[in-house]
Amino acid sequence: MELFKTGDWNLKTNKIAFQDTNKPVKNKNKNKKNKNKNKSKSNSNLEQKTTKDDSTNNNNDEVKDVERSKSKKEKKITKPTLNLQPAKKLTPLQQKMMAKLSGSRFRWINEQLYTISSKEALNLIKDQPELFDEYHDGFRSQVTSWPENPVDVFTTQIIARCKRPINAPGGLPGLQNSKEIVIADMGCGEAQLALKINQFFSKFNKGKKPFKRYNHKVHSFDLKRVNERITVADIRNVPLPDNSCTIVIFCLSLMGTNFLDFIKEAYRILAPRGELWIAEIKSRFGDGKGDEFVESLKLMGFFHKKTDDENKMFTRFEFFKPPQDIIEERKAKLERRQKFIEVESAKEELERKRHDNAEGNWLLKPCIYKRR
Ligand code: SAH
Repeated sequence: MELFKTGDWNLKTNKIAFQDTNKPVKNKNKNKKNKNKNKSKSNSNLEQKTTKDDSTNNNNDEVKDVERSKSKKEKKITKPTLNLQPAKKLTPLQQKMMAKLSGSRFRWINEQLYTISSKEALNLIKDQPELFDEYHDGFRSQVTSWPENPVDVFTTQIIARCKRPINAPGGLPGLQNSKEIVIADMGCGEAQLALKINQFFSKFNKGKKPFKRYNHKVHSFDLKRVNERITVADIRNVPLPDNSCTIVIFCLSLMGTNFLDFIKEAYRILAPRGELWIAEIKSRFGDGKGDEFVESLKLMGFFHKKTDDENKMFTRFEFFKPPQDIIEERKAKLERRQKFIEVESAKEELERKRHDNAEGNWLLKPCIYKRR
């Protein structure tokens, strides 16, 4: 799309390079001096290297200097650099241009994450971790224009449900024996949910009765560890045991083309009666409502609790993982009605369909942000 081309910059390039603007410059003059020194050094080294290649010169440091200056040169030629945080003060026009450029880059990274598999996304961010920061700079700026941030809705919901005892109707789900509330925030971004929930519980647990002290844990997973709360993982495969969580959250994070793998992972890590909470951008649903999406998750074993369609921009879903006795009951009921085979073949059909064409191409459309 031409939209992502900016001047000499083809943002569709596979590799984008950045200047490291975070490195402290300790002594400017000294650096300048060294630069000049290196310049003349590298010129003479070039000659020396020629001789060395021929035979005798054995000065390794000098050879390394040549290599360094050589690779510096190569970098300049092959990798365009973009400094989005210049030290100099920009004119208003320059600021406007910079904002446009950074907006285009945000949209480019966003489009990538929606159109590649989760494995490719993990590799992309591993290779170019700066992309993650740029993405989240853009994401933060998008969030400011939303009437409501779905991650705040989830946080509020957790807090509100603390008023009731764990595992009681309306209360939060906890593990059967320990009653611990274990939350997995899949695609957590900057792990704001963990931050707020941890803050809430530390206050809550200090409060007076009638409520008991609650044990809780929030696991936050994403492609980059931008703070200590985050564990790096592709959310199709997180380092948690089976049946170990009581709430799994995907807040705007069903991004990879294989996102149904994330749902399968949620099923694996959830304990029976554990809840699955999802928020997605409304425009991603081909049918506008998410009915086909709900049906697919049901075929993957989840029971649908509710769809909240109130918000203009987002749809929220709640599912739960049924315990074994309910699974057996449901199976017997289907068999009685001779519908069991129908459901089984619908499951097979879904797998066939996604094998031929990844679900990111038909079940949820990529969310492409408009230019603002
Ligand atoms: N849930 C956060 C962030 C939403 S942005 C919030 O609502 O504020 C979506 C996040 O999902 C991004 O941080 C992106 O890196 C992450 N993500 C997308 N695919 C992922 C994957 N396969 N594994 C881990 N994180 C992923």
